[in-house]
Amino acid sequence: MNQNEVLFERAQKTIPGGVNSPVRAFRQVGGTPRFVTKAKGPYFWDAENKRYIDLIMSWGPMIVGHANPEVVEAVQKAAETSFSYGAPTEGEIELAERICSIMPSLEQVRMVSSGTEATMSALRLARGYTGRDLIIKFEGCYHGHADSLLVKAGSGLLTFADSTQNAPSSGGVPQDLVKHTLVLPYNDVAAIEEVFNKQGNEIAAVILEPIAGNMNLIQPSKEFLSAMRNLTSKHGSVLIYDEVMTGFRVALGGAQSLQGITPDLTCLGKVMGGGMPMAAFGGKKEIMSKLAPLGSVYQAGTLSGNPVAVAAGLKTLEIISREGFYEYLTGQTKKLMTGLKQAADKAGVPFAVDNVGGMFGFYFANQVPTSFEAVTKTDIEAFKKFFHLMLDEGVYLAPSAYEAGFTSIAHDDEVVNAIIAAAESSFKKL
Ligand code: PLP
Repeated sequence: MNQNEVLFERAQKTIPGGVNSPVRAFRQVGGTPRFVTKAKGPYFWDAENKRYIDLIMSWGPMIVGHANPEVVEAVQKAAETSFSYGAPTEGEIELAERICSIMPSLEQVRMVSSGTEATMSALRLARGYTGRDLIIKFEGCYHGHADSLLVKAGSGLLTFADSTQNAPSSGGVPQDLVKHTLVLPYNDVAAIEEVFNKQGNEIAAVILEPIAGNMNLIQPSKEFLSAMRNLTSKHGSVLIYDEVMTGFRVALGGAQSLQGITPDLTCLGKVMGGGMPMAAFGGKKEIMSKLAPLGSVYQAGTLSGNPVAVAAGLKTLEIISREGFYEYLTGQTKKLMTGLKQAADKAGVPFAVDNVGGMFGFYFANQVPTSFEAVTKTDIEAFKKFFHLMLDEGVYLAPSAYEAGFTSIAHDDEVVNAIIAAAESSFKKL
């Protein structure tokens, strides 16, 4: 047994499935997860001391590269003055001010420790604000693991549960609880119009991934986005953009800055903590002021606004705000996707690619899918083989065909060319 196998066997004795988050378990692709010992820039090393080019980047956060020296320095400095106080700090104000200035739709912001907390709290707030119960989510979108959101959910749920049933995608979630969650197909304008025409005055909120990344990468149509904005405004429902993945990743101002849509509430996470447990939700002051201690909607957290996480977040936001950051990141990601497509074409493998900023999708299909249903029809068997061939070549892709991929500013030309060379040899062996 190699060292990764030894660790995986040991892990399974005390950790269910050997992992602390299901998608790390390689269930869709089979094989043994790599146990990471260290990472730097675009690379990480496993327990066998094999080096991989990382195309997950902690599922999005590590946009400035692993162990970025500026972020490391900021974190070390913060850690010297204790890890947590449970009392407010000036750093939290600076981070809130920075976020609100980057994303003008956020007049106020509340910090939490995970994306799950952000979406769960935003929904509670929307329900408290409107006095309504119903929420709308979309098939294949993942918004964390709060009970009422685990219906036809994306990400790990797509590889573990039967998400085709109109029922909770997870055990332990009562049918009664999800009866307040309506699930509609992504990009289906007629479906959302129909629901609003029938039940508009009962709908508290619509929550969506404005560029979906948990059923591979799926882009919304302009018509879909504007229908949603118009219908929620007309019926007094709260439009929640879940930008936990897309925020600061597809562009500095997130998907909303590219789409020209002003949501009522936005959920953030991943990049905003630079790899530390940090997330947030924010939006219109009128809505945010319903939160405790001002209003009746309760929300709290022992480690919320943690000073070490705030330091990592502040430094990361400073780096990504520098001129040319997103031009370079987007350019490198595009170069990578174009190279992969050319390599597939050369080998005669049906393959399509897409990217927005530093987020990408590739599909074993003739064209880029636009719905959850279309993603499930891509060639998953080809993906599984490709994943392992690339892993052998030292390229670490997300171990599921239902996940987007992520780059960083450390993915320079040398790294991009190495990935393309690995893909050329992998496609030939498919
Ligand atoms: N929302 C979206 C769009 C996500 O991609 C994720 C995680 O992948 C979450 C929410 C949940 O975030 P966390 O895993 O930090 O709880």
